[in-house]
Amino acid sequence: MKKILLTFIILVQTALWANSDPLYEIRGDSALLDANLTRFLHQWREETTCPIAEGNYTNIYLHGDTTQGKKIALTFDDSPDENNTGKVLDILKHYDVKASFFMIAAPMLDVNATITKRVADEGHLVLNHSFNHPHFTHISDEEIAQEIQSSSERIATITGHYPLLFRPPYGSVNQRVVDTLNAQGCKSILWSLDSLDWAMKDKNAIIENIMTHVQPGDIILMHSSRANNATVEALGEIIEKLRNQGYQFQRVDEMLGIKAYR
Ligand SMILES: [Zn+2]
Repeated sequence: MKKILLTFIILVQTALWANSDPLYEIRGDSALLDANLTRFLHQWREETTCPIAEGNYTNIYLHGDTTQGKKIALTFDDSPDENNTGKVLDILKHYDVKASFFMIAAPMLDVNATITKRVADEGHLVLNHSFNHPHFTHISDEEIAQEIQSSSERIATITGHYPLLFRPPYGSVNQRVVDTLNAQGCKSILWSLDSLDWAMKDKNAIIENIMTHVQPGDIILMHSSRANNATVEALGEIIEKLRNQGYQFQRVDEMLGIKAYR
C-alpha cells in the first residue's frame, strides 16, 4: 500500500513538473484582460504546450535556446497592411533590428505586394501565415495543403523566396494539423511570450507586459496590421528598453538554427 502511494505521489509530481517547465510555457498577461479571456487564453496555452512538452508534436517551436545569452526574436503577424506594416518597418530600420513577419497572402496585391517585397528587401523574413487566415483545426487536410502552398507560392513570386516556416492562425493546432503541416515540409513557429497587443490596444500595457515577462530565447508575438496602432506606438520604446537590458535581436531562422526558405 505504501509503495502504491509513493508511486502515485511521484507520478503526480512528475506531471506537475512537466506542466510548470519554463521551456514549455507561453507567458504574457495583463490586468487589462477580462477574466473570461484570461481563462480561455490559459486553457489554450495548456492544450497547446502539453503535447509539445510530451513530444507528440514535431517540428513546432515555442522559443530559442534559453542558455545562449540574451537573444530574442520579434515576430509580427497579419501583414501586409498599407498603414502599419510600413510604420513598423521604419522603426525597425531606425534601430537596425531584423525581425520575422508571418504574413497573410490573400491581401498581397498592388500596394500590399510592394510592402511585402519591402519587408524582404530590408532583411526581414517573409514567412507563411496562410492564404486566408482560417482556423486550421476547422478545415480539411486538402484545404490545409492548399492554404500552405498557395501562400508560399505567392510569397515566392513577390519576394523570390519560398518560405518553409509557418505560423498557424490563432495558434490553432492539433495532432492532425501538425501531421499535415509536416507532410507539407513546413515547420511551425509559435511563441513563448505574447505581447497581447491583439487584445489590449494600449501602448503602456503592451510595454509593461513584455518587460515584466521577457526571458532569453523568447519568440515574442506581435502584430503589424490595421488594428495595431498601439503596437506601432510601443515598438520603439520596447526595442530601447530591451537593448538597455542587454538583449540582442535575431530573426527566427538565426535563433532556431533552421532554414527559413527553400
Ligand atoms: Zn494571425
